[in-house]
Amino acid sequence: MPSSQVLSLSLPDYAVRVSPRCKRVLIKINPLGKIEVVIPRDFDPRQVPAILQQRRRWLETHQAKLKARWAEAPHEHALRPKQIQLRAVNRCWQVDYAPGSGRQVRLQANGERLQLHYPQADNAEADVLISQRLQKWLIVQARQHFLPWLTQTAEELGLPYAKVCIRAQKTRWGSCSARRVINLNRNLLFLPSPLVRYLFVHELSHIRHMNHSPQFWRQVAKHEPDYRRLDTELGQAGKYLPRWVHV
Ligand SMILES: [Zn+2]
Repeated sequence: MPSSQVLSLSLPDYAVRVSPRCKRVLIKINPLGKIEVVIPRDFDPRQVPAILQQRRRWLETHQAKLKARWAEAPHEHALRPKQIQLRAVNRCWQVDYAPGSGRQVRLQANGERLQLHYPQADNAEADVLISQRLQKWLIVQARQHFLPWLTQTAEELGLPYAKVCIRAQKTRWGSCSARRVINLNRNLLFLPSPLVRYLFVHELSHIRHMNHSPQFWRQVAKHEPDYRRLDTELGQAGKYLPRWVHV
């Protein structure tokens, strides 16, 4: 077989990003299965296809796994979900979609019903716009529900924070800075409430101990004796997120 045959195997779609901080080539697959290759500044991008060919098996297996995961609950993971369940606050919204005029997605909320009017666009484009609009709505929900809850937990622990920010972080559920600013991931809304409470206790405990020392864990244990199990569960909690939050 001529060697050109091997090279003509088509590669999955991918994007290349140059990162000055990156020291070696990194291949990333996001939850939607999109591939990004991060390369150091002095790396020749023409070498990327050969690297991807070498990792082809791994890429395909990983993409197939993601596909299977989203196929398990097609309704929950649709890019136009009919229902949005926010486990953390024990609420569930029904969502309706209709084409509308204008270039933006319009969202109207009426109790636990959401009505979305989307602009004229091809289906895939409309899906993206709808997901982005729902993500904005999610931030508002997170602010509304988490602020009073965090304040109450802070009072309970006697550890007041300075400020809270709701973010769309990809890899962290929360953090606490030396200035007592607490960052919370909006996607916590999809998690069971005991996990969210544990995260609040964890981040607030960092106000007293900015590390994971035995003293820190003793502080956590005072308010959440089951912290070990909850911490492990939180590490696997990505499974609660629907596909549309990753768009
Ligand atoms: Zn921590």
